Amino acid sequence: MPFREIGWEISQWWIVYIPGILAVIAIGYGGYERYRLWRLGKPASIFENLGGRIKSFINPAIFDGFAHRRLFGVTFDFSGVRSLSNELREGVSFFPPKIATKHPLGGLIRSAVSPFIPKEFYPGIIHFLLFGGAGLLLLGTAMDVVAHYDYPFMRGATYLGFSLVNDLGGVFMLLGVILALIRRYIQRPQRLTNTAEDALILGLIFVVVLSGFILEGFRICAVASHTELAQPGWARWSFLGYALSLAFDNLAPATQLVWYQWLWWGHMVFTMGVIIYISLAFSKLTHIIVAPLNVFFRSLRPKGALVPILNLEEAESFGAEKIEDFTWKQLMDLDACTGCGRCQDNCPVYLSGKALSPKKLIQDLKSHLEEKGRKSQNNSRSLIGEVISEDDIWACTTCRACQQVCPVFVEHIDKTIEMRRYLVLSESRFPETAMGALTSIETRGHPWRGTTAVRTDWADGLGIKELSQDSEIDILYWVGCTEALEDRSMKVAIAVGKILKKAGIKFGILGSEETCCGEPARRMGNEYLFQIQAQRNIELLKSYQVKKIITACPHCFNTIKNEYPQFGGEFEVIHHTEFIANLIKNGRIEPFMRLDQKVTYQDSCYLGRYNGIYDAPREILASIPRLNLTEMAWRKEKGFCCGGGGGRMWMEEQGTRVNHMRTEDVIKTGAQIVATACPFCLQMFEDGIKAKGVEESLKAMDIAELINLAIPSE
Ligand code: SF4
Ligand code: SF4
Repeated sequence: MPFREIGWEISQWWIVYIPGILAVIAIGYGGYERYRLWRLGKPASIFENLGGRIKSFINPAIFDGFAHRRLFGVTFDFSGVRSLSNELREGVSFFPPKIATKHPLGGLIRSAVSPFIPKEFYPGIIHFLLFGGAGLLLLGTAMDVVAHYDYPFMRGATYLGFSLVNDLGGVFMLLGVILALIRRYIQRPQRLTNTAEDALILGLIFVVVLSGFILEGFRICAVASHTELAQPGWARWSFLGYALSLAFDNLAPATQLVWYQWLWWGHMVFTMGVIIYISLAFSKLTHIIVAPLNVFFRSLRPKGALVPILNLEEAESFGAEKIEDFTWKQLMDLDACTGCGRCQDNCPVYLSGKALSPKKLIQDLKSHLEEKGRKSQNNSRSLIGEVISEDDIWACTTCRACQQVCPVFVEHIDKTIEMRRYLVLSESRFPETAMGALTSIETRGHPWRGTTAVRTDWADGLGIKELSQDSEIDILYWVGCTEALEDRSMKVAIAVGKILKKAGIKFGILGSEETCCGEPARRMGNEYLFQIQAQRNIELLKSYQVKKIITACPHCFNTIKNEYPQFGGEFEVIHHTEFIANLIKNGRIEPFMRLDQKVTYQDSCYLGRYNGIYDAPREILASIPRLNLTEMAWRKEKGFCCGGGGGRMWMEEQGTRVNHMRTEDVIKTGAQIVATACPFCLQMFEDGIKAKGVEESLKAMDIAELINLAIPSE
């Protein structure tokens, strides 16, 4: 019966309990010390709704933890597969044999397959090998312990199976370390910062696993030389240990035994030493524990809802002036970061050559937290200015690309907004251009300080009713400041108004009673102004008993839908792309005019990444006859920001502009039209097209304008 005796020929092997117990103590002590550091932060109400939290942990645990969704850069989005199968169902005919689809088959197949193609294969496979290998080795060790102390089931086929699995785990780990070394020290991608700790960790893992295999090799040949028990066939199941044992076969049996005994002790003590070092130094490897904790305690608010400052009038301080002003969950977030650099690789601001890097932001905050833990408060650096520069705080467009790709669910944006809140509310310090927009919201109810237009100019002659005259409506059209007051965007408001009329929708507008939803103020850190705007609007909407709202601005959409409920404003909010897509599906409007144009679509961050609306705009475009939709490489979850979010619409941008980079992406597709679903994106492209001098060959148009062309009224 194949089996392995634990501690064979090791006298006094129980002594190994001493380093084992020390390792357990070190894990406890290291964890406690770190917990004390996190507790420097403010309380966080994360234990409410524990049941919901457990439920919401299951999906990321399976897909991101075990299946490595974010690590491989896949989305497992089946919408493309669904569209392809729908098209094929409608289009496949066997007699005469043909596959006829309304849209180019190649494009449909590409978008069906693309969410499953790893965009991060190399780093993904490295982590998968290390994670999977460690998991298998851990499982094997746990089984050995259970079998030794409780139930001796590690015999026969079970033992041989586990021998195989254990060796596989070790091989995975060795391979993972070798690939990681090649990536870090030969390929050297820009997003990775190589520290001495990184080299040390990889070296330690390699030595632990390799010494385990050499020990196994010596054990196999020593057992064969000293006992009648072992049969060569069994040992082959531990395939790498067996291969190594062949190299030691020629040694004298006594030498084999001595080497085996020394290696046994060496491997055990070294492994425990590594655990003690990792725990006491709180090395990067502790993300094995902190990352799942961070995912478990992540924010369960809607993605687009910032945390409100409650009781603003009575609050003694605002935002984050010092690291202790973050909550303890926000501080734990910093320890979950492994410095993988995915966030940096996807940050439009970093990619446009600015100093802001979301990875550096988190790592700098982490070093500062550690510094705070070591020093007295008086002699440590100031959070704003010395640790994080004001330029970095204001450079962020809040596009959420960083959070979307972070494998350990680090939340960058809340932290930036907290620092903005401190600067704006406590210090009245903000970029001059931002001040213009904030003052305009305060005094004129909108951020467009230069405009002379009034909110109803665009509606002249369209016969659209205002609620102050007649509030009998089914749905309110919330126009938003940009579409109501900015010249180019007014054309979008006109297009939306015409589509609603054409579809026979009973709708109205607030007209001169509409004021800014407050979104720019909130993203720029002026929570006070935001709450005034929000409360005023909620009262107004309630006074007209508005239940349902349509808006063409993803920023208004996100704020009214996800943030107004924080102040008692519960409304059904629909973005115009979803509304129009439904009108087309229900046959209320039918785009029939051909548009022989190549069109690409810009995913708005606040529509896509924040609210998951990717399909409706594409369905609308697909419904326009002859329109040729071509996609940009950076799209959907990986969409590249236009540069206008987070209040950046009203701030100066130095160096390469994000919108110019995005316009270059559009130009590369050869599209004649870039379709947008957001007034900020539209404006940013108008500017980008002029800056690149391609006005003759490229136009920016809102999706509503395109549909309006396809369903002319008269
Ligand atoms: S924040 Fe997340 S994505 Fe960015 S470096 Fe850290 S772990 Fe990687
Ligand atoms: S939210 Fe966007 S702009 Fe801000 S740090 Fe993250 S990726 Fe960069």
